[in-house]
Amino acid sequence: MSDASQQAASARLADRTRSLERSKIRVMFGLAEEARRESDRELVRLEVGEPDFDTPDHIVDAAADAAREGATRYTENAGIPPLREAIAETMARESGVEYAPEQVTVTTGAMEALSLSMMALAGPGDEVVVPTPAWPNYVNQVQLAGATPVTVPLPADSGFDLDPERVTDRIGDDTAAVILTSPSNPTGRVYDEDDVAEVVAAAAAHDAYVVADEVYGRLTYDREFRGAASYVESPENVLTVGSCSKTYAMTGWRLGWLAGPQPVVDAVSHIGESTTACPSSVSQQAALAAFTGPQEPVAEMKAAFAERRDFVVERVAEMPVVSCPRPEGAFYAFLDVSDLPGGSFDVAKRLLSDYGVVTAPGDGFGDAGEGYLRISFANSLDRIEEGLDRIEAFVRDETES
Ligand code: PMP
Repeated sequence: MSDASQQAASARLADRTRSLERSKIRVMFGLAEEARRESDRELVRLEVGEPDFDTPDHIVDAAADAAREGATRYTENAGIPPLREAIAETMARESGVEYAPEQVTVTTGAMEALSLSMMALAGPGDEVVVPTPAWPNYVNQVQLAGATPVTVPLPADSGFDLDPERVTDRIGDDTAAVILTSPSNPTGRVYDEDDVAEVVAAAAAHDAYVVADEVYGRLTYDREFRGAASYVESPENVLTVGSCSKTYAMTGWRLGWLAGPQPVVDAVSHIGESTTACPSSVSQQAALAAFTGPQEPVAEMKAAFAERRDFVVERVAEMPVVSCPRPEGAFYAFLDVSDLPGGSFDVAKRLLSDYGVVTAPGDGFGDAGEGYLRISFANSLDRIEEGLDRIEAFVRDETES
């Protein structure tokens, strides 16, 4: 294709394709791939947000058996009934939230649960409040739905804890939804229940929903996690989003869900009819095995993440100039590098080009993340140690020169 015809083809694309920001995590991923092709130096990849473990064998076996036995066809939009039931039971047992199986719709990853709920709840003229630093896809999903994202920076000096007043100040008559992520990607913060309840009540007063993204809910280290819908006074405006990705090391199976008030759940599965029809039948069988089979692999992975979390916190505490709030959940540490020269993207690029460590720059999670780097501890202890050794050398070289 000539340059001119490529330009003409791009001009014909819909406007919404131009408003989408590219994720900085993917940008770093691309730069890392480039660096890998150009040099023999071994990179330490701390930018990726997925468990380094393989999906437990019993889950893979159950899916393979089910596929051989014919689970290879379309299913109901909302997913197979035994899976919806297993999800409802697991949520009640693990995070205390009570939903009937009919109130659960299975989706192609939490990603689809989130994007379809934005389409179901928000459109032109509507606002969706997103406290930041936040997973970058929310803003894109809101924009794709035709609505306006309203980002609200959380305070760095409290480790990016949820400050209910800052968030409720931005909820108004145009607010369709507020997205709360606890445990948080990228900060690892688990929000206080009272703070979440305050935001839910303020949203309810404006007929707005709270979308509680709880994909990391089973990965908390210092305290038990309870889902938002279990402790707010009236959870009628709370949607709960979950996923097999992080809990069961199943990112590639693309299996998530949405639970909430029946009309919203029905609307989401209705929209899903025109996007994916239903989640993968084989992945649904895998998920069923994940929920109903042994839970020891989850406990083992969680213990490994906890050990790595402690290691990262201790190592960072020994470093000059940089610091990080103690992650309470998920598998990320959010490193304050604001005393190093340049913005966080520059710091991440220097760290990659000079020391071979790949991280996710904080400004990719909204302006509030500027001055930070997200490092993922979903990697072996050896690799994390190597990465932190190099980060320490980088910090010392940058500050001592
Ligand atoms: N929410 C958050 C906060 C995430 O970090 C991710 C994955 N990185 C998702 C949702 C999407 O998860 P899934 O793989 O289930 O689509």
